[in-house]
Amino acid sequence: MSGPRSAVVFDADETLVDLRPAITGALVAVLEEMRRRTPAAATVSLADLEEDWGAVFGALSAAPVQEIRRAALARSLARAGLETELDELAELFFARRYALSRPFPDALPALAALRPHHVLGFATNGNSRAERCGLAGQFAFELYAHEGGLPKKPAGEFFAAVVAAAGLPAARIVHVGDSPEHDVVAAQRAGLRAVWLNRGGLPRPRGLEPDAEVSTLAGLSTVLNTLTSANA
Ligand SMILES: [Mg+2]
Repeated sequence: MSGPRSAVVFDADETLVDLRPAITGALVAVLEEMRRRTPAAATVSLADLEEDWGAVFGALSAAPVQEIRRAALARSLARAGLETELDELAELFFARRYALSRPFPDALPALAALRPHHVLGFATNGNSRAERCGLAGQFAFELYAHEGGLPKKPAGEFFAAVVAAAGLPAARIVHVGDSPEHDVVAAQRAGLRAVWLNRGGLPRPRGLEPDAEVSTLAGLSTVLNTLTSANA
């Protein structure tokens, strides 16, 4: 036997990358800048900016995340008559968002423990570039939706690309992520195995049958040893 016979592929946002503080911090920076630019922004709140993402997401969910974010920011700026300043404020948003993006504390130790035994991959719908989120050099391969026309999860084509990049049969690949629909159901539909990362201790959605469930990445090594040796 030569080399790992299994691969572990990670979702990015809310799995390896602690995205929420980065997004909140970036929105706060945008709001402060809006208020510096016009008194009309005094009545705009952080909650308004957060709502604007939700308001545009439904119609644009298949679009690149950067486009969805620009559409949300455009809506927020319109609240204060700042529509023409979208380019500058979007640049401010993304600069802060990346500057504040960090892996969860359990991420790097888990990757280090797994690396001797598995091919490690990174596969995201979003724009959390590994190298801009404290994860440079951690993976054998990285896949980003919209690069090379790759559709987003839960598309079967996304997982076909994961399988091709891992260079192993789908059944030898375990996908780890926080989204029941995108990371568990869709991965299993494509023939991969799936570990649901449930950091918040949420009740398991009806019908969801992950191959394993973990509450942190610390327990992953043990779970994966069992999963990847089960049909060795
Ligand atoms: Mg996620």
